[in-house]
Amino acid sequence: MNDLPSTPLEYLKGVGPQKAASLSKELGIHNYGDLLFHFPYRYVDRSFFVKVIDLQHVDNYVQLKGKIDQIRETGKGRYKKLTARFRDDTGSIQLIWFQGASWVKSSLKVNETYQIFGKPKLYSQKWSIPHPEMNVVSNNVTRTGFFPLYSSTEKLNSKGLNSKGIEKLISLIIPQIGQSFPETLSDEILLDNRLISKKESIKKIHQPDNEQDINKAVFRLKFEELFYLQLELLIRKKLTAIRHKGYVFNEVGDVFHAFYNSHLSFELTNAQKRVIKEIRKDFLSGKHMNRLLQGDVGSGKTLVALMTMLIAVGNGFQTAIMAPTEILALQHYESLKEFLKELPVKTGLLTGSTKKSERKILHEGLMAGEIQILVGTHALLEDTVEFKNIGLVVIDEQHRFGVAQRSKMWKKNIQAPHILIMTATPIPRTLAMTFYGDLEVSVIDELPPGRKNINTSHRYEKHRLKVFDFVKTQIKLGHQIYMVYPLIKESEKLDFHNLMDGFEAVSRAFPLPDYKISIVHGQMKSEDKEFEMQRFVKGETQIMVATTVIEVGVDVPNATLMLIESAERFGLSQLHQLRGRVGRGAEQSYCILMTDVKLSNESKKRMQTMVNSSDGFEIAEVDLQLRGPGDLMGTQQSGILDLKISDLRKDGQIVSLARDAARKLILEDPEFQKPENIRIKDTIEKIIGSKPDWGKIA
Ligand code: ADP
Ligand code: MG
Repeated sequence: MNDLPSTPLEYLKGVGPQKAASLSKELGIHNYGDLLFHFPYRYVDRSFFVKVIDLQHVDNYVQLKGKIDQIRETGKGRYKKLTARFRDDTGSIQLIWFQGASWVKSSLKVNETYQIFGKPKLYSQKWSIPHPEMNVVSNNVTRTGFFPLYSSTEKLNSKGLNSKGIEKLISLIIPQIGQSFPETLSDEILLDNRLISKKESIKKIHQPDNEQDINKAVFRLKFEELFYLQLELLIRKKLTAIRHKGYVFNEVGDVFHAFYNSHLSFELTNAQKRVIKEIRKDFLSGKHMNRLLQGDVGSGKTLVALMTMLIAVGNGFQTAIMAPTEILALQHYESLKEFLKELPVKTGLLTGSTKKSERKILHEGLMAGEIQILVGTHALLEDTVEFKNIGLVVIDEQHRFGVAQRSKMWKKNIQAPHILIMTATPIPRTLAMTFYGDLEVSVIDELPPGRKNINTSHRYEKHRLKVFDFVKTQIKLGHQIYMVYPLIKESEKLDFHNLMDGFEAVSRAFPLPDYKISIVHGQMKSEDKEFEMQRFVKGETQIMVATTVIEVGVDVPNATLMLIESAERFGLSQLHQLRGRVGRGAEQSYCILMTDVKLSNESKKRMQTMVNSSDGFEIAEVDLQLRGPGDLMGTQQSGILDLKISDLRKDGQIVSLARDAARKLILEDPEFQKPENIRIKDTIEKIIGSKPDWGKIA
């Protein structure tokens, strides 16, 4: 038996074909290795004994040592029960069995020393333990320590494979681990990260002597899991990079210089400069760029994107920026034209509502290479939109576009144009590393100077009058207000009702002709939406009552107050996005979160976080803690989170360590040529499911 992990279960004493089949079907355990990787979900601390006299001081499971001096069976039929008197040197208690009385009776022995475990109950002044776990102490040897609990299923339970049963099977394999359990990490990594060996960790996770054993074993196993995840991502990224060549932009170009030197009225932040450098490096590499640009709302992503587009133009390529909505596309287009005022760059706008005649002209301009920068919506993706020579595509707000749509842009030139994706939804680093395995990530983690904090408060219905008064003072100052209502799929009708009721209430509180209100919601036709939105953008209305359709992108610097109704029904990142709609001008801005008085702990935490923090990354971290990674990223993407022992919510630090180790390895031995890295090479080839040409990757 040279390979212990792959030994079939049937080799195990007490496991016949039937049990083996059940284990495989119910828990996916097919061999010794699977069983050893069925880790305990919890441990019970049985490292000490309690005396009978001290039972009054504990209210949990206890372990006692003593003898039985009396056994009695009472009742008949269904009411039959068995009691035994158990005593140690400080007193006695009763052990009670309501089920299996006859069987238990035949197995109990008077005057034998037992180690018992159970939860004591006080019945009419007397302590008793129902259905205790009984173990004979032979030769005065007690078993103490941390006892593992294993998950099982009803079916397995009925076959005797409850937690105890599984524990027993595992304990049969453990002595066989000996020297034969393969190590999967190199000595260097073990040493660098102070990890115990694989063999040791498997033993200790099942049979720890103390808490430290558990911690060490768990740390080692988590590290390994995350290390291979990170290594896989790094390697896959490299594989993608060699597969796809990219256009080389040798120059920074005249337009960029002209813009930078004479049109930019402010200094770039250090973060912006750094990101532009990162992108520049990609442009020079000859490889296809696939980069995610993360940054909080207002951190200056759009400007960075624009400047990289100018580099493409300066190298004789066309470029396009794709926004998720028409309003946003239009805004991009207008700010672009403003930025490029006196520069010789030709731009175009293409959206769903571009007229056929205009469209034709646009198409021709694109094919001829006359239009250098195209701004648009999904309409850009249509096959009829062809470019003469597109070299870079910027995609705004990634979460509205799927991967499939992204790949459509790849086909717009002979070689795939470079792709830059901007998102204002901050993703905690640990997740970004994991989810965007195929993307390089750039982060703008610094706001332009002089930004005022958005004053955020949490209010209840009883404050409504005051809140509305505050709205009025803001309007008197010439400012504009957003009022947002939740509209969530499952209860769309009800929410729509709430929105309309809200709208009516707002209309009554803010009557014409002093106040003018826009309303935008998901059930309106898009032209109507557009029209209402434009009225607000132009300042013709002072209040925008809306559902979350305004979440993405619109820029109305004159809006200074974001009032969010039923704020408890929004997720944290959504709240943060909404809040980012204000604070875009010079004036002090505000965000008011209105909620019910009764709030769950989680909702309270969300409101507190919003009030206390304006840092998108910090907020995303809390969101991750509260909701978990699957939820945060959309469940369809959670496949990669099929982690056995690690939890990305809690193990961020180990993710970083594992990431560093994986990086270091690839840097030092990219072809896995060092003998000590053979184990890693073997393991990763199994994970990737092929043997890549390591030389080429290096
Ligand atoms: P984002 O796309 O990240 O939300 P934008 O690029 O739209 O941010 O920038 C928000 C606002 O800040 C714009 O009005 C932009 O002109 C301005 N801005 C961008 N970078 C800077 C900077 N370094 N200094 C001052 N203002 C800046
Ligand atoms: Mg923006």
